Amino acid sequence: MQDNPWQRALAQLQSTIELTDAHPDLHARLKEPDTIVEVDVPVEMDNGTTKIFRGYRVQHNNMRGPYKGGLRFHPQVDLDEAKALAFWMTMKNALVGVPFGGGKGGIEVDPKELSAGELERLTRNFARELAHVIGPEKDVPAPDVGSTAQMMHWIADEYSKHIGEHSPSVVTGKPVEHGGSEGRTEATGYGGGYVLEAMLTKLGKEDAKTVAIQGFGNVGSYLAEYLEAHGFRIVGLSDSKGGIHMPEGIDIKAAEKYKKEKGSLIGFGSTTMSSEDVLELPVDILVPAALENAITEKNAPDIKASIVLELANGPTTLEADKILHEKGTIVIPDILANAGGVAVSYFEWEQNRNGEEWSKEDVLMRLKEKMENAATRVFVESEAKKISLRDAAYIVALKSLGGTAVE
Ligand code: NAD
Repeated sequence: MQDNPWQRALAQLQSTIELTDAHPDLHARLKEPDTIVEVDVPVEMDNGTTKIFRGYRVQHNNMRGPYKGGLRFHPQVDLDEAKALAFWMTMKNALVGVPFGGGKGGIEVDPKELSAGELERLTRNFARELAHVIGPEKDVPAPDVGSTAQMMHWIADEYSKHIGEHSPSVVTGKPVEHGGSEGRTEATGYGGGYVLEAMLTKLGKEDAKTVAIQGFGNVGSYLAEYLEAHGFRIVGLSDSKGGIHMPEGIDIKAAEKYKKEKGSLIGFGSTTMSSEDVLELPVDILVPAALENAITEKNAPDIKASIVLELANGPTTLEADKILHEKGTIVIPDILANAGGVAVSYFEWEQNRNGEEWSKEDVLMRLKEKMENAATRVFVESEAKKISLRDAAYIVALKSLGGTAVE
C-alpha cells in the first residue's frame, strides 16, 4: 500500500481530518476526484505508422477556483499517480493561498524516445483531446516531469484554435515570448530555497549548510543554483542514471554544462555512485527532487540528513515518514516546499488576464513573500500543536478549504 501514492494521499487526508473539526461533507468531497478524463491519443510517427498513447486528466477539486496542476510525460504515469498528484495540488494551492483547485494529468510516454516532430504532434493531439475540459476558468494545466515550456505553448495554441480566440491563460509555464512569466522556470527551485532558509531560521538551524539533491531537472537544478549562491555547499547530486559525491562542493554551473554535453552526471567529479546512494550521504539537508517514493522504509533508517526538503511530490512513503519522525529528522513537506511553481503559475495567469508583464525581480519578490508567509503559517501551527510540519501543512490547507482545527 505504501508505494501507491493515491492510497497514501487518502491516508494523509484521513489523519488530517482527525486533527480537525472538518465537516464530513468536506472529507467526502476530498476523498474522490470530481472528474477523471482518460483519453487515447493517436500520433503519426515519423515512420508513417500510428501509435496510440494513454493520457489522463484528473480534476480533483475546484472549491477554491479552476483546477490547476501539471501534465507529466513519463512512462510510469498512471491513474492512481495522477489522482494523488491532483489531490496534493488541491492541498498545496489552498496552503499557499492561490485561487485554484487541484488537477493533474499526463501521458504514458518516454518523451526522450520521440523525435521533436512526434512530441509536438503528441502534445497538440493531447491538447485537442482535453480541449473540452480545460480552460482559463475551468482547468489550467502546467509543466511537470518530462514536459516543457514549449509544450505548454503548443497546448495554448491548440486550445486557442479550438475555441477560436487567443487564450494564453489556459496553461501556465509557457515560454516568456509566448505569454509566460518571468521567473516561472526558476520558481519551484527558488521557492524551495526561500522556504528552506525561512525554516532554518525559525528552527535555529542556520548552521545546516551541506546538501545532497536527488534529481537534476528543472526543480533540482534551480534549487542547486539558488543554494550555491546563498552560502550552502552541494556535495551530492544525482539524475536517473547515477549520482556524484564531491565533499568539497559541486560547481553547479559546471555540472549543468557537463550533463548537457554528456547526457548524465556520471563521470563528473571524483566519486560516482548510484542515484539511490546519494540519499544516504552524510549531509545536513537532503532534497528529493525527482519522483515519488524515493525515501522508503528500506533506506529511511540510513538517511543521515537531519532535514529533508521535499521538492518532489510525494517522495516519502508513510512508513518512511514514521521512521524519519522517530529519528527526529525534520521533514519540510512537499505541499509547502514545492509550491513555488504554482505560485508563479498564478502570477502568470494573472498577468495574461490583465495584459501585464511583470519583471523577474517583481515576480521573485512576490514569490518570496508568498513562500515565507506559508512557511510561517505552517511553523506556527506545528509549534502550537506540537505536530510535524507535514500535519501542520495539511491542517493549514484544510482550514483554507473550510475545515476548522481542533484546539
Ligand atoms: P524534470 O523532468 O525536469 O526532472 C526530473 C529529474 O529527476 C531528472 O533530472 C531525472 O533524471 C531525475 N530522476 C528521475 N528518476 C530519478 C532517480 N531514480 N534518481 C535520481 N534522479 C532521478 O522534472 P521536474 O519538473 O524537475 O520535477 C521534479 C519533481 O518536482 C517531480 O516530483 C515534480 O512533480 C515536482 N514538482 C515540479 C514542479 C515544476 O514546476 N516543474 C512543481 C512542483 C513539483
